[in-house]
Amino acid sequence: MEFKNTLEFAKELDQNDPLKSFREKFYIPILNKKESIYFTGNSLGLQSKNVQESILDELEDWANFGVEGHENARNPWLHYHEIFPEMLTEIVGAKIEEIVVMNQLTVNLHLMMETFYRPTTSRYKIICEAKAFPSDQYAFASQVKMHGYDPANAIIEVQPREGKETIEHSDILEAIKTHGNEIALVLFSGVNYYTGQVFNMKEITTAAHNVGAYCGFDLAHAAGNIPLELHNWDVDFACWCTYKYLNSGPGSVGGVYINEKHSTNKSIPRLEGWWGTNKKTRFKMEKDFDPIPTAEGWQLSNAPVLNMAAHKAALEIFMEAGIHNIFEKGKKLSAYLIYILQDINKEKDFEIITPLKDNEHGCQMSVSINNNGRKVFEELKKNGIIADWREPNVIRVAPVPLYNKYEDIYNFGETLKTALSKN
Ligand SMILES: *Cc1c(COP(=O)(O)O)cnc(C)c1O
Repeated sequence: MEFKNTLEFAKELDQNDPLKSFREKFYIPILNKKESIYFTGNSLGLQSKNVQESILDELEDWANFGVEGHENARNPWLHYHEIFPEMLTEIVGAKIEEIVVMNQLTVNLHLMMETFYRPTTSRYKIICEAKAFPSDQYAFASQVKMHGYDPANAIIEVQPREGKETIEHSDILEAIKTHGNEIALVLFSGVNYYTGQVFNMKEITTAAHNVGAYCGFDLAHAAGNIPLELHNWDVDFACWCTYKYLNSGPGSVGGVYINEKHSTNKSIPRLEGWWGTNKKTRFKMEKDFDPIPTAEGWQLSNAPVLNMAAHKAALEIFMEAGIHNIFEKGKKLSAYLIYILQDINKEKDFEIITPLKDNEHGCQMSVSINNNGRKVFEELKKNGIIADWREPNVIRVAPVPLYNKYEDIYNFGETLKTALSKN
C-alpha cells in the first residue's frame, strides 16, 4: 500500500480501520488536558473499561459469600484460572491443556527452569541472547549458581556483530551447533525488549532439539503482539506477562505454556504445590502429590482472583476483536510508523535499530537518536506523547492495534520532526 505523510491520509486509514470502535473501550491517559498519544502498550497496556466491573463482581461475591465464593461466586474461585487457556489458545498458538495462568513472569521462568534446566557435568550450559531483559539475566545466573556452576562459563550470550544492535539469526543457529552437547537449555525472548527484534522461534527450537537441548522462550514482548505457534514449533515451554500487550494491569498474573509431551509426563521434575495436584483428591489433604497431567500440574498456589478478573476482562476484548484482526492491524500500524519515521529522517537525525522486515518486528520500533536523545524525548512528552526512554539514546515507541490510531502516528511524526529541528 502507498502511504502518505498527511493528516487526511492518516484519518482515512482510521476511517477504514475495522477495529476503529475498540479505542472507545479503553481509558486513554490525559496529558496537558488532552488525550495523550500513548505509545507504551509494550510496557503497560491501557485499562479497558470492562475491567472495573469484572473486579467489582468478585469483590461483591466475596462480600456476599465469604469462603463459599469458592463454589458459589458467579465465576467460582476454585476454578477461576480454568477460563484462561481457551482464551489464550490462539494468542500463543498452543493447545488448551498446554496453557496455565499463574504467578508472575520471573517466578514462572524459575519454575520452568526447575523442570527444564537439569544440568549435568557435561551438559550444563544455557544459551541466550546478549542483553536479555535484566530479570531474565538474574534468573539464568542464579539458576546456574544454584546448580553449582559458574555463570561466566555456563551462560553463552549470542552477541550482535561489531557495530550492530540486533543479532544475526545465523549466528544464533551457529552458536547452538558450536556448543552442541554442552547445552542444557536454549532460552531466548520472542521479541527483544530493547531492539524490538523478533527471533525465529521455530528454527531456534529445531536447532536446540538437534543438539539434544530443551528450548524455551520469554514472550513478555511477544504475547498479544505477534502471531505465535508454540505447539507447532514444538517449543518445550514459554512464559509471558499479561500487563504489556495483553492489557491486564500492573503486575498482573503471568502465563505459561508447557508442551503436552512434557505436561502429560507425571514423572518430570518440578516444584510442587497443592494447586498442581489431582483435583479429585486435592481436598483429601493427603501426602502424595499426583500431578494434573496438563500445564496446570505446575501450579503451586490457589488463583489470585482479583487480578485474574482484570486479565479476564482484557482478554474478552481480544476475543471480541479477533486475534487475526489485531495482528493484521498491528502490521499495518507498524508499517505506517516505519514509513513516517523514514519520511521525517531526511537529515539522518536518528536510526531505527529495530529490523524493518515484516517478520522481524512487531509493534515496537526502537529509535536511536544521534544527538541529545534525552532532550528530544522530553520534548515529545511536553507535547503529549507517552513513549519510553532507554539509556543511552533510545526511544521506544509501540502503537498497538486495540487503541492506537493512524492519526497518533502522523501526529507523533510531526512532533518528532519539530523536536529534532530544535536540536
Ligand atoms: C517485562 C519483562 C519482565 C518483567 O518481569 P516480571 O516478573 O513480570 O516483573 C521480564 N522479562 C522480560 C523479557 C520482560 O520484557
